[in-house]
Amino acid sequence: MLLDEEIVKLVGMPERAYKLLSEPDRIIRCRIRRHIPGVNSFIYVYLVYHSAARGPPGKGGVRMSSDVTLEEVAQLAEIMTYKNALMDLPFGGAKSGIVADSNLPPDVKHLIMTAYAHELKNELLSGHYVPAPDIGTGPSEMAAIFGETHLRESVTGKPIGIGGLPGRREATGYGVSVISERSVQEFLEKDISDATVAVQGFGNVGSWTCEFLSKMGAKIVAVSDVRGGSFCKDGINIEELKNYFQKAGTVCGFGGSQITNQELLELDVDLLIPAAVGGVIHAGNAAKIRADLIVEGANAPVTKEADEVLLKNKKIVVPDFLANAGGVVASYIEWREGKSGAKTKKEETYAVIKETLMEAFEETLQFSVSKDISLRKSALALAASRIVDTMYARGWL
Ligand code: NAD
Repeated sequence: MLLDEEIVKLVGMPERAYKLLSEPDRIIRCRIRRHIPGVNSFIYVYLVYHSAARGPPGKGGVRMSSDVTLEEVAQLAEIMTYKNALMDLPFGGAKSGIVADSNLPPDVKHLIMTAYAHELKNELLSGHYVPAPDIGTGPSEMAAIFGETHLRESVTGKPIGIGGLPGRREATGYGVSVISERSVQEFLEKDISDATVAVQGFGNVGSWTCEFLSKMGAKIVAVSDVRGGSFCKDGINIEELKNYFQKAGTVCGFGGSQITNQELLELDVDLLIPAAVGGVIHAGNAAKIRADLIVEGANAPVTKEADEVLLKNKKIVVPDFLANAGGVVASYIEWREGKSGAKTKKEETYAVIKETLMEAFEETLQFSVSKDISLRKSALALAASRIVDTMYARGWL
């Protein structure tokens, strides 16, 4: 659980609000009943509504992975509650998971997504849960959901032709780069163009983060994916890396020297961006992290124990629900468009993401300085106080 006694005190949180936020509002666990050719075992689906205080809808992505668990989905739904509140979006926090290999052929994945939408039809059509991409899913999977619901506001991260938002695909990475630029300036007193960066993950979030940071002039010295990484002390040419990735399907083997994911995390760089999976910086390796600044592109890449070690070692951590919120901010625009039929240009999407994230960053920074607390605690307290206010307004307290 993200809340602790310090946050409760900072917010003046009533016991009842604490209890409401300490466990999920609702959990749905079901099986895909349709036969999926080539898949013999049952595919399980989890949907967790952490808190609907600022919803419905409950907003949060759908993760497809063979090892996703109910506990993981619940942890991610909780992060969404605070992310949405910190961005001041009228969304509760939710998340869903599909226990299936995301590397299955596209036609099989399409059938799985259609069946997922069929099983969750009531949640989707009532507007209680609005999914978006997460690990293992992207615009095609969101298109499959839309194919079942035929309701534009029922899912975000769709392809443009069916009401997707220009700029949504790159929104999370764009937000991570904007937050990184401001954080480097604030905490390292440097311009991003003078910073060295290591990025773990070259999926949606990692690759777009690299692209925007390299356009800002940052020197990205290392990038990895699940198979390992490449290191080049003079900086990686991201355009060339993207071309290589398109052919090879991995960043592994691209020029420079080959490094492991562990080695990447321990590099002596200014800025480290874990943008792959959760729990990669843990009690076992936190003391070895040399970067002064860590911007959480992924959700929950730093464990609670590691967070304490990093704090002790005077490392600055910009938390996930601030750093990677660009995606949900864009999703909000797409959801609104789905309801109104309005259209938005890519530049507008970028501008809204930047403005929203910068506002949240400055508020978080100010509060953390005034209370002498970490950015994570500060962001959490700000988000939690908005949730408590809403609970009062709704007569829940
Ligand atoms: P993705 O599936 O597009 O990419 C995941 C990347 O992580 C791939 O490069 C993969 O090779 C790599 N990877 C997987 N397992 C790994 C491991 N054990 N070690 C190192 N690398 C590994 O997923 P994504 O959408 O880019 O999401 C990445 C993270 O960002 C997740 O934590 C997700 O929850 C978070 N996030 C995503 C979005 C979004 O809009 N897609 C928004 C907010 C947060």
